[in-house]
Amino acid sequence: MADENIPERDADPADYDAIIIGGGPGGATAAWYLAKAGKRALVLEKETFPRFHVGESLLPYNMPIFREMDLVPKLKEAGFMEKFGAQFLLPRGDRKAQFAFGNGRFATEPMSYQVERSKFDEVLLRHAEAAGAEVREGTAVKDYQIEEGEGVTVTAQNGGPPEEFRARFLVDASGTANFTGNREGLKELYEHHRKVAIYGHYRGVTLPEDRTRGDILIYRLENAWFWFIPLSDDRVSLGLVVDRSTFKERDLSPEALFDETVRRCPLLAERLADAERTMPLRTIADFSYRNRRLVSPHLVRVGDAAGFLDPIFSSGVYLAMMTGKLGAEGICEAIDGGNALNAALKRYEKTTWRYMKSYFEMIENFYRQPFFELLVQPDHRLRLADAVVALLAGQMEGGWAVRWRLRLFFLLVKLQARFPVVERFKIE
Ligand SMILES: Cc1cc2nc3c(=O)[nH]c(=O)nc-3n(C[C@H](O)[C@H](O)[C@H](O)COP(=O)(O)OP(=O)(O)OC[C@H]3O[C@@H](n4cnc5c(N)ncnc54)[C@H](O)[C@@H]3O)c2cc1C
Repeated sequence: MADENIPERDADPADYDAIIIGGGPGGATAAWYLAKAGKRALVLEKETFPRFHVGESLLPYNMPIFREMDLVPKLKEAGFMEKFGAQFLLPRGDRKAQFAFGNGRFATEPMSYQVERSKFDEVLLRHAEAAGAEVREGTAVKDYQIEEGEGVTVTAQNGGPPEEFRARFLVDASGTANFTGNREGLKELYEHHRKVAIYGHYRGVTLPEDRTRGDILIYRLENAWFWFIPLSDDRVSLGLVVDRSTFKERDLSPEALFDETVRRCPLLAERLADAERTMPLRTIADFSYRNRRLVSPHLVRVGDAAGFLDPIFSSGVYLAMMTGKLGAEGICEAIDGGNALNAALKRYEKTTWRYMKSYFEMIENFYRQPFFELLVQPDHRLRLADAVVALLAGQMEGGWAVRWRLRLFFLLVKLQARFPVVERFKIE
């Protein structure tokens, strides 16, 4: 879009190899891989870090990416809470499934971290900068234009007049702002996954002293669930996810609905007896969607800007970093081959669909009562629950051993709905 404030450009076809919209985990990871490959990468981030962000529980299969990026020492130095497992509980604690990642048969990564995102995202962005990426914070992307065969022109603003930048590739890592997907009309909401999340931080919650201290706890209620993510000795992230229809029917303020639902969950209420909120509760709705296309000439979408699934299995940051890495690797191949879109990027799109589909299937199942009944009463002979744990850990390449077990598990979920395979119980 022409703007009289934008100065005339010289004939240089591209200032950068890639411009990245957004400096969250997806954008910072893409920038790091591009910079490490010797590409000129520019990150345009509208906020100034550190900034608050929801999404604090990481998966064990984030660890291989952290190691590859040489990030582990920085994460250790930041002192993030170590996470060794996940627990799924009914409100009164009478049913419970407790998984330690280290015991899983099909996953080899025993731990991950629970992170305060303001701190974690800043570590990642500074890491990309240290690798050679240029980072401009407080700079919002306003527009982009793609000229096939040439590249992309991005218009951005940092308080003053708009500026233009040119690159061979645009990486959309704008998160749920979904900058290019919205502009191109590609967004598809998962209609029957319309949820509302209400969340905040608490202090004064007592945590256990053993290895389960950093476990993520999922309290499962009828039509709702809570996440409980210990971030540090004195800070816990707590969130409630409810159906959008329930939220409307109840017609309460988010705070009132949150507090009322805590009271319906005695196990959690007990833990919060002496706790206090350290921030006003935040609310987000309708966050599950995908874009119909992830790559096109000169453009790649990564992280939530590719699509976002329900947060129940904490897959967001892992998928953002994985797609940031794979997207950047595809771009490097395309640039080196002189292409605007190549087989590597098509492969990237296919792999991302596959990852998202695997999680989507698990998420669909999670909201069915029989899934929960089977999860908390696992039959260890066939090690079906181990296959579920592998996916919960982020093991996306578990091969046939995991795939047939998951297929069988999902078949049992269907059976359980009609002829009980294990004891049925009520979720209150
Ligand atoms: C309720 C809820 C709970 C969640 N819980 C978890 C969890 O426990 N674990 C987990 O792994 N994930 C969780 N997630 C998901 C997780 O938050 C995201 O998947 C993750 O942040 C995606 O990273 P990203 O880099 O793609 O996007 P983001 O982290 O959102 O980063 C995008 C960045 O782009 C910037 N930006 C946007 N528009 C522009 C623009 N026009 N110009 C410049 N910059 C721009 C934003 O300021 C932002 O910094 C949860 C999500 C929700 C909604």
